[in-house]
Amino acid sequence: MIEINLSILNQCYSRRLNWYPPVKNSEAAPRKISGIEEVLDQFDLIMLDSYGVLCRGVEAIDGAVEAIAMMRERGKAFCVVSNDTMTNQYVAAEKYAARGFDFANEEVVTSLDVTESWLATVENPERWGVIAPLPHPTDKLLEGMVRLNECNGAIPEQVDSILFMVGTGWTQDMQDNLLKSAEGRQFTMAVGNPDMGAPYFIDGQIHINATPGYFMDNLVEATDQRAVPMLFGKPGNTIFQTVAERHCVTDPSRVLMVGDTLYTDILGGNAMGFKTLLLECGVYMGTDIDQAIAEAGIAPDFIAPHL
Ligand SMILES: [Mg+2]
Repeated sequence: MIEINLSILNQCYSRRLNWYPPVKNSEAAPRKISGIEEVLDQFDLIMLDSYGVLCRGVEAIDGAVEAIAMMRERGKAFCVVSNDTMTNQYVAAEKYAARGFDFANEEVVTSLDVTESWLATVENPERWGVIAPLPHPTDKLLEGMVRLNECNGAIPEQVDSILFMVGTGWTQDMQDNLLKSAEGRQFTMAVGNPDMGAPYFIDGQIHINATPGYFMDNLVEATDQRAVPMLFGKPGNTIFQTVAERHCVTDPSRVLMVGDTLYTDILGGNAMGFKTLLLECGVYMGTDIDQAIAEAGIAPDFIAPHL
């Protein structure tokens, strides 16, 4: 794992705004609320980020299980929308049950689900280099692609397209080899998990592991890649559209996206015309959230300490 800090994380996101849908903030200033229940009547469908909203690591965040139970009781439709490239729709319920949630598989959509739909359409898989550990739930669909982890990061000559899926097992040495072998070449790029980092907390201190978005940003920066990558997770719109279609959404302003990250959850939700709720219990925990909003230039409709 490669560790980065919050300032590098924000720097990486802010210099890649051209990869994302255009920033579309609501005209009103964000309204501070005590929790989701305060605004629930305004919405028919709630989309929820996972990490930093429902759980932190393998633990549920205080009040999250109760908030889901409350929404169920009130008959609100909801869906977890996560940039998770280790969990697909077949194993989602099991993963969340271990954290105390009672989701059905169809109440979770991950960037791995979106990636898998795309993988089923790929022609010439031998021209794709993929970053994902072995074993991985999608191994069957990745057959024929070149596993760059197995090449210690070096990109073989026949590869002209790169899919960044999972950072687990990807080392600085592999990333260095990737950059070296990419020099003077241009690639088609796709990213399963556009997150630049995955935060975790030890004794209340934030630590951030670099994730596929970071490796791609680093590749683009170091080797001057010109292509804009395909994004299968937030803030790209495909994952949100997948959920909206499943729930037959006709009025996007009746959808609430709840997240803890401005550049993925909030930017992406705003771009879809959803209302957005930013929680303070995730990546911005312990920091000045108003300052984070001002610096990013991305604003939610609501801010709450937790669900
Ligand atoms: Mg999150």
